[in-house]
Amino acid sequence: LVTRMQPFGTTIFAEMSALATSTGAINLGQGFPDTDGPREMLEAAKAAIDGGRNQYPPGPGVPELLAAIAAHQERFYGISLDPATQVLVTAGATEAIAAVVLALCEPGDEVVTFEPYYDSYVATIALAGATRRTSVLRFPDFAVDEDSLRAAFSSRTRLVLLNTPHNPTGKVFTRAELELIAGLAREHDAWVVTDEVYEHLVFDGGEHVPVATLPGMAGHTITISSAGKTFSATGWKVGWLTGPAEAVAAARTVKQFLTYVASGPFQPAVALALGLGDEVYAGLRDSLQAKRDLLCSALEECGLRVSRPSGTYFVIADAAPLGAVDGLEFARRLPSIAGVVGVPVSVFHDDAGAARTLIRFAFCKRDDVLLEASRRLAAAT
Ligand code: PMP
Ligand code: GLN
Repeated sequence: LVTRMQPFGTTIFAEMSALATSTGAINLGQGFPDTDGPREMLEAAKAAIDGGRNQYPPGPGVPELLAAIAAHQERFYGISLDPATQVLVTAGATEAIAAVVLALCEPGDEVVTFEPYYDSYVATIALAGATRRTSVLRFPDFAVDEDSLRAAFSSRTRLVLLNTPHNPTGKVFTRAELELIAGLAREHDAWVVTDEVYEHLVFDGGEHVPVATLPGMAGHTITISSAGKTFSATGWKVGWLTGPAEAVAAARTVKQFLTYVASGPFQPAVALALGLGDEVYAGLRDSLQAKRDLLCSALEECGLRVSRPSGTYFVIADAAPLGAVDGLEFARRLPSIAGVVGVPVSVFHDDAGAARTLIRFAFCKRDDVLLEASRRLAAAT
């Protein structure tokens, strides 16, 4: 059977998690935590189920979650939003990305994004019949290259699809980089769609700069986030988008026909979680920072060059000393070499040469799991 999306096959995350299951290797591939998020949030979901909130929630999201998302944007960033018209709850950030791209792009429009990219960007742009134009972020510092970024824009640019903090590099875009991107978007009358799912996972006292807070950008920016990352609940699939009412309405129209609604009893639980104290956010972040340090040191002790991430829960290492030549082929062999699973970065590139021997490891795992993975990698080098 030949289908339009056939080239997209099975996602690398599904392939690598299946490989971990079949080989018994430690899964540092797909990014999901192995401990649960805040206890109060888990209890709130149970209470919602027991309280009978098990039918379709309202299309845009339950009122208390819409209000909590708006309050979160005000509390952390000083962004004010009308919960009724400027917020939409989605089935994870994945659906938010799809709904926005499908809403805003006509066939033939161009979408500017960076590579390595998150896999769903490419698939969603293809679903919309749009064309991607990319600028490469290069290991190990992943700085924005102004010339190649400028060259990616044209009169057909409809939107820029940005991700900060960035998966898979762990890069947190600087204010200057974001201003450059925003300026180019304005020059080309393009929307900025910014995926900020790792907004609270920024280390070393660094700053996450929401694009919507840049001067003049609130009216041109659609911001996406998710409870999956902030509260370690990737399976709940509660995400959202916020922005100008006309763009939110356009995405809402599409969303109705993707899932209509999702995650009924989890929505009030996420509303509660968003209102938890600063110490809860800081605790999750600090625990991840320590895990980053643990895994980065272990990889370095194995003789691998790493790009120390400023955010997210991923680290990229150059696996050449472990015998990597072609990333995908190597990632498929890594369980037998080392009993560990990682994700090849080359699959997130149009230009695979930019990342041939790079492997992404997730460090959102219990310390004992990271220590065992470190021992195994050391034994393999
Ligand atoms: N964007 C990025 C950059 C991600 O890393 C992920 C998943 N980890 C998503 C979107 C999807 O988020 P969700 O699971 O909420 O759909
Ligand atoms: N975003 C997660 C990652 O980067 C995986 C999500 C998925 O499997 N689609 O690992």
